[in-house]
Amino acid sequence: MRHEVVIVGGGTAGITVAARLRRAGVTDVAVVEPSEHHYCQPLWTLVGGGLADAASTVRPEARVLPVGVTWIRDRAVQVHPDARTVDLDDGRRLSYEHLVVAPGLRLDFDGVPGLAEAVGHDGVSSNYRFDLAPRTWEFIRQVRGGTAVFTMPPGPIKCAGAPQKIAYLAADWWRRQGALDRMRVILVLPTAAMFSQPDWGEVLKGVAAGYGIEVRHDTHLVEVDGPARRAVLLDTKGGTKEDIDFEVLHAVPPQSAPDWVKASPLAGATAALAPGGTLLVVGDDRANLTSGVGGPQDAAVLYTPEQIVAGLDGLRVDRADTVRRPVPADGRTAEALDTVVVAVRP
Ligand SMILES: Cc1cc2nc3c(=O)[nH]c(=O)nc-3n(C[C@H](O)[C@H](O)[C@H](O)COP(=O)(O)OP(=O)(O)OC[C@H]3O[C@@H](n4cnc5c(N)ncnc54)[C@H](O)[C@@H]3O)c2cc1C
Repeated sequence: MRHEVVIVGGGTAGITVAARLRRAGVTDVAVVEPSEHHYCQPLWTLVGGGLADAASTVRPEARVLPVGVTWIRDRAVQVHPDARTVDLDDGRRLSYEHLVVAPGLRLDFDGVPGLAEAVGHDGVSSNYRFDLAPRTWEFIRQVRGGTAVFTMPPGPIKCAGAPQKIAYLAADWWRRQGALDRMRVILVLPTAAMFSQPDWGEVLKGVAAGYGIEVRHDTHLVEVDGPARRAVLLDTKGGTKEDIDFEVLHAVPPQSAPDWVKASPLAGATAALAPGGTLLVVGDDRANLTSGVGGPQDAAVLYTPEQIVAGLDGLRVDRADTVRRPVPADGRTAEALDTVVVAVRP
């Protein structure tokens, strides 16, 4: 089977790219997606906050795929960029002219000891899964006093705002129930700032203070004892650990690329580049933390042109810049900073 464009993953990214390509006149686009269902994940925050039904976040995949796109209902298991092929779980092999890889991030609940066992009961939940978001709301709704902990992991995650939004929705609910005074609400962030964009960070600082939320910076969840309802937090600056007894814990799991992507030539693009081939790297620039808007807040997952170039042994670097990209922000135009590197294998 051969297609001009193969897109691995029919989630938000995959279907959006497929729609743009179809609109641009590309006729042969195939999407590899095993799931019959498409989920609007941003709505899961509202499900956890009691403001939306889980059922309203699901659509049949067939209904969201753009007209004219071929749906291959299987899972990609390996990519061979040199041969321009993708292996599917059922043993079939697809050929492509162009490949888009969009299988989303893997949720690693096992990355925090005790978390995988605890989620879904003992007051522990996470809006990051369709089946768990309604449990978040159950736990929040039932509590009338005690400690509630909301955590964000270090490293890249989808939606840097989601770990905070559920804390504010919960605090607002408890305030409306007259229970907020009996609650101790702790928001645990791995970062030194509230948010990557300083002026939004200032606003969020005010929102948290308005609900009396204690914010722990440079701190993350390292262990959960579900039956004992105890969370262990690590302050990475001081190197100290703290045990906290909770009534409710909303934990966002660590996230990373799926294992098959990590183990594929995609993770070693430099080595896989054929003579005459061009490597294009576009990513959020580390300078975005201080002078740009949006993007991840963790310096460990941001780039500098110099850092990318240092990993391009044997390639000729034609371009290595920090590029300003205009983006709309609150009715005005702000700038996001991207690292752009173009290199060629001689
Ligand atoms: C609780 C929560 C709140 C959020 N809030 C917001 C928000 O307010 N605003 C915002 O902009 N974003 C938000 N997001 C983030 C947003 O949902 C994601 O950024 C977006 O879904 C990413 O799209 P994606 O297509 O990359 O991944 P996904 O939407 O996760 O889709 C990946 C797809 O790839 C498929 N797949 C996986 N492995 C394979 C494989 N091997 N082969 C083929 N297919 C595969 C999966 O079945 C899935 O359909 C939120 C996310 C969560 C979880």
